[in-house]
Amino acid sequence: MTYFCPVCWKEIKGHDKVCPHCGADISEHENKGFEEKLINALNHPERETVQRAVYILGRLKSVKAVKHLFVLFKQTDNTFLKLEVLNTLNEIGVPEGKEFLMKVIDSDVGIIKRMAKELINSGGIYKAS
Ligand SMILES: [Zn+2]
Repeated sequence: MTYFCPVCWKEIKGHDKVCPHCGADISEHENKGFEEKLINALNHPERETVQRAVYILGRLKSVKAVKHLFVLFKQTDNTFLKLEVLNTLNEIGVPEGKEFLMKVIDSDVGIIKRMAKELINSGGIYKAS
């Protein structure tokens, strides 16, 4: 099992009491509500943190995050963040994610269009968690 600091979202060891990256006291954060904290981090002011949260939600296959990821995709102007969201929706693998990718194919941004097509053609979105 992989652990992440609930403050900076970098990877940590399960037995760490203090985050070696940002020095946050991890012992006061319990794993309970971890997914909610990650979803909250999607509104974090630093794009790097948002991007990391998106990535981790994909690894956790967080079905709860899907509707928040749709919102994030629509709100952000950042192409790389949009691509990360598409990857994560693919990773989570729910049917709504596939429908979303289908719609994104009509995007007027070439790289996003291509990525959505690739993800659909790879069949990855059908994978059940
Ligand atoms: Zn940290």
